[in-house]
Amino acid sequence: MTFAATVLTIFPEMFPGPLGRSLAGRALDEGIWSLDIRDIRESATDRHRSVDDSPAGGGPGMVMRADVLAAAIDAASPQGDDRPRLLMSPRGRPLDQARARALAAGSGVLIVAGRFEGVDERVIAARGLEEVSLGDFVLSGGEIAAMAVLDATIRLIPGVMGNAASADSESFADHLLEYPQYTRPAVFEGRAIPGVLTSGNHGEVARWRGEEAKRLTAERRPDLLARRESTKPAD
Ligand code: SAH
Repeated sequence: MTFAATVLTIFPEMFPGPLGRSLAGRALDEGIWSLDIRDIRESATDRHRSVDDSPAGGGPGMVMRADVLAAAIDAASPQGDDRPRLLMSPRGRPLDQARARALAAGSGVLIVAGRFEGVDERVIAARGLEEVSLGDFVLSGGEIAAMAVLDATIRLIPGVMGNAASADSESFADHLLEYPQYTRPAVFEGRAIPGVLTSGNHGEVARWRGEEAKRLTAERRPDLLARRESTKPAD
């Protein structure tokens, strides 16, 4: 089954962009996922094809119109379409690996990339949009955020990553950051690869990696470790 992604944007020419390369691009070519890019402007009804207007109550900037955006969503979403509908928004719940995994297990996703000061609140409720954020900072538009959601999701669709096992040990699997990685040369500017990694003792390697992952996570992201301890018995 093809994972069907739809993105609504006023900058359709930005896509597929980085999603057309590497892992995601290859999977797109192979039909593992599809990308339907919709220009919100096509749903405008006036002569100037306007998608935005000034905010009710005053203030700076412009707001994306509810009627135009709703029409664009309806045109992109056939009857019975049960894909999650995301609105990229700094007010949303921050994207995490668990959300990407849940999306990858589904049939697809419809993503609205906002612009201006954001979108009219009424369309969020009327079309059941779930606000998702990339983090606590403000981008100038939702396109890069939509690409990030799709990139994180698509690589988790079965058959996309060359080595499926790599998803199990990488950062955020099991609420841990990944252990340090090394490759040739054996010595780089006087720094050697930790001996355990070249010892050939797989048990010792696994133990070292587990300890390093915990050490790094405790140092950099104690919040992750706390969440890990609350969901699992201590080991
Ligand atoms: N006035 C808004 C910011 C609008 S930025 C506010 O203060 O909340 C314009 C658009 O960029 C948003 O509609 C959203 O689609 C996108 N965007 C900005 N920051 C984002 C973030 N951290 N995560 C996801 N999307 C973001």
